Amino acid sequence: MRLLSIQARFFVVTINSLAFGAEMLCKPEALGYFLKNVMSGQLKGEKVYHGIAVSAGVCRGKAIVLRQARHAIAKRELAPAEVEVEVKRFEQSLVRTRQQITDIQRRVSQTMSSSEADIFDAHLLMLEDRVLIEEVIKQIRDQRANADYAFHAASEHYISVLEAVQDEYLRERAADLRDLTGRVLDNLLEVKDQFDLRHLQEPCILVGHDLSPSMTAQLDKKYVLGFATDIGGKTSHTAILSRSLDIPAVVGAQNISEELETGDYALLDGYNGTLIVNPTDQTLFEYGQLVKIKASLGEKLKEVKHQPAVTLDGKMVHLSANIEDQHDVESVLAHGAEGVGLFRTEFLFINRENLPTEEEQYTVYREVAAALKPNSVIIRTLDIGGDKFASHLQLAQEMNPFLGWRAIRFCLAQPEIFRHQLRAILRASAEGNVRMMYPMISGVEELAQANAFVEKCKDELRAEKISFAENLEIGAMMEIPSAVLVADSLAKRVKFFSIGSNDLIQYTLAADRTNEKVSHLYEPTHPAILRLIKMTVDAAHAHGIWAGVCGEIAGDPMLTALLVGLGVDELSAAPAVIDQIKYLIRRIKLSEAQQLAAFALNCESPSEILARCVEFARATAPSLFETRA
Ligand code: PEP
Ligand code: MG
Repeated sequence: MRLLSIQARFFVVTINSLAFGAEMLCKPEALGYFLKNVMSGQLKGEKVYHGIAVSAGVCRGKAIVLRQARHAIAKRELAPAEVEVEVKRFEQSLVRTRQQITDIQRRVSQTMSSSEADIFDAHLLMLEDRVLIEEVIKQIRDQRANADYAFHAASEHYISVLEAVQDEYLRERAADLRDLTGRVLDNLLEVKDQFDLRHLQEPCILVGHDLSPSMTAQLDKKYVLGFATDIGGKTSHTAILSRSLDIPAVVGAQNISEELETGDYALLDGYNGTLIVNPTDQTLFEYGQLVKIKASLGEKLKEVKHQPAVTLDGKMVHLSANIEDQHDVESVLAHGAEGVGLFRTEFLFINRENLPTEEEQYTVYREVAAALKPNSVIIRTLDIGGDKFASHLQLAQEMNPFLGWRAIRFCLAQPEIFRHQLRAILRASAEGNVRMMYPMISGVEELAQANAFVEKCKDELRAEKISFAENLEIGAMMEIPSAVLVADSLAKRVKFFSIGSNDLIQYTLAADRTNEKVSHLYEPTHPAILRLIKMTVDAAHAHGIWAGVCGEIAGDPMLTALLVGLGVDELSAAPAVIDQIKYLIRRIKLSEAQQLAAFALNCESPSEILARCVEFARATAPSLFETRA
């Protein structure tokens, strides 16, 4: 009897609180339509989602939507002192869930009409249902049950009651409550990445809220046609990996992981940053044309593959590639790069249970050096932290990981990890043309400390009679504004600079490289960035060393002339774009590129500078840009 009255109260509260209003309640078919077709993403007509294009190419196929799996819920008896803490934890999970839902609702209202977004009001009102909340708190207090168990039990009970009623409208509310329950449980259990992408069985387009670099690194290229995410920016490491895998990708597409369902048929346009669900025949035809244009461009690019990257008036630009592991070398050679300008070694450290040994690292570095000989490979020492984490290192969560214990800071504080890597790099230097650089150098002292470690390792190897290149060249990445401001001091102590523009932009403009909400502020053509690049190049040349760029701007054909005009000696980019950059360099004159750079250095507006660069690039090599809207 008591149970029935609670159920009845719950219905009343829930139904009354379903804020669709009388109008909506009179039209259950309309609501059913939205729930079945809009919210579950199975709309039959074509629907276009816009995001940020981060990796070129077009693909189409079945979407697989990565949603977080739920943990098994186990009952745990709380100690008396834990009870109120648990109540608080439960309340906080409700607050967090509320924030997430209003966020989704806001985003949905931007892509659909606001009435469609109102559907989430039902979720919000269920979330505030006092009957449910009080029942959970009562269980926590009276039975000393853990919050996830108490919440799961209470909501499952109401779900089963709703599912059993005759009224179709009420039955559909069960799905809402299940969805909401999952969300609250995710927050209570702090469910994070749980997808194992190693077991994909058929080619698909992956859709998710986010893909972490460790998830992306697991992708089996055979089965991944492309991917699209709700969040992310052009230079997040996930985006960089997609380019290096040469898989079309769109990030920052807002709420696609909420709206699409596994099995939806989609077309992904990595040139223009769109994902089209249920494309019409007309759309498929148009994209067929795009693929043809791309194929004919491929033929043109083949012609330059084995030609030098030299401007029409004779300026040689060293063109090298960025790699993440030894398997990428094949692609470097196939695309005609002159060696590797950035070997991101951290991918040897993630997706494993333990640290790679010195021997393991040596084997990989040696393999790369030997395959590229006589061309060089610049091995970057470990840059863990930021958005790249190795779970076995168990780094504490930080408030600002990009400003925290990352890269050289981490290595200097972890001498054994650093030592093994340095010894492995030094040993590999005996087998090929190896150079080394440190990430995130902020000033002279950090550089001196890192160099002291290297000297110690050299002494050890000498004592062990293990050979290495005595004259191994060491460079500094220029990716923190402070380093650029003391570039003259650093230039006296290194053999080269490599500008890490991905970080230099985020640190200079205070715009997180992984956050799509500030992507409009992340402007490579901001005058501050161009001045920093020029200062780095000038300091390098004044001290007789060279300066390259290995951040993502080096692989953007729109910016090639600008960088060449600023005096950059080397560009290092994803293997797949090397031929395009070379094609462009071979069509420009250094004198014109210098005029473009002079204009940019005197201009105050990032968008005007970008527009001038785009105009220049399109006029110089129109066929490179036919695939872009
Ligand atoms: C950069 O910051 O530009 C860079 C090349 O390093 P990463 O992207 O690995 O931080
Ligand atoms: Mg960097």
